[in-house]
Amino acid sequence: MQSFSYLRAGSSAEAVAALASGARPMAGGTTLYDLMKMHVERPERIVDINQLPLADIAVEDDALVLGALVRMSDAAEHQAVISNLPALSESLWKAASQQLRNMASLGGNLLQRTRCSYFRNGAPFACNKREPGSGCAAIGGLNRGHALFGGSADCIAVYPGDFATALIAFDADVDILGRDGPRRIRLADLHREPGDTPDSEHTLSPTEIITAIRVPRSAAGRASTYHKIRDRESYAFAVVSVTAGLAMDGDVVRDARIALGGVATRPWRAEAAERALTGRRLTPAAMREAGEIAFAAARTTEHNAFKRELGARAVVDALQIAHART
Ligand code: SF4
Repeated sequence: MQSFSYLRAGSSAEAVAALASGARPMAGGTTLYDLMKMHVERPERIVDINQLPLADIAVEDDALVLGALVRMSDAAEHQAVISNLPALSESLWKAASQQLRNMASLGGNLLQRTRCSYFRNGAPFACNKREPGSGCAAIGGLNRGHALFGGSADCIAVYPGDFATALIAFDADVDILGRDGPRRIRLADLHREPGDTPDSEHTLSPTEIITAIRVPRSAAGRASTYHKIRDRESYAFAVVSVTAGLAMDGDVVRDARIALGGVATRPWRAEAAERALTGRRLTPAAMREAGEIAFAAARTTEHNAFKRELGARAVVDALQIAHART
């Protein structure tokens, strides 16, 4: 690991000033230090933001507000999260190991980088995300874990996070602080598709940090689940994951939420599948149709075509779990 300078920020102003001078923010460090040891990340300055007062969970009339420095394990077991948005709690419990969940912050979790092995393992593999213009070894290589949605000719890496996949289904917002003050954006506008600049992964400027995540409270949120299919049940990234939430009028769907993980270059909302269910009776045929619609526009690669059927079935399973919670 190359040497770097380290500053512990005592205030938001100090943190923002450090970012403006070129420092990288560090909270749990579970992604940044990992990538530094692999020489994928090479920051010269780091500002530790753990002293900032951003570690509270609040329940407001219309929203759950999660501070960006809340640890994954604390949010996962918080009663307000479990009762208002069980999908969020499950997305956190099913991510990483207990040790990592105890360290990793929610804000850092949102910004975690891809697990594409060509990106992480470095030379001799070409990777436009790690080294712009070098090519993409995954497109003609081993791409079982790569994207069916949102890819480009330059990158098909999957966004790996579980938490953001749950958040996007419930219209979450993200509070941000930077040199120009605070601002708020939709979580749906935080992550970029790769296009021809796969190294640019999100819409924060280098001088900004996430301060909080706001999730509207809703009936569909209360009857929700995060259903994760993985190769190793104890600890692995998603092969396919589905967030589902339902609000019902009798046996007719009033509000359907469906989002997909492990299959797209950013958190992916399956809006066409949601529309197909809304206003219909929730029959097995309607759920299967929603699953097929969710994957209808999938662009598969040599090794990941199996995810289309697996994903459609996972949508059905997730809807059944959500329905049982209505
Ligand atoms: Fe790099 Fe993206 Fe290709 Fe993976 S898929 S090798 S991250 S350019």
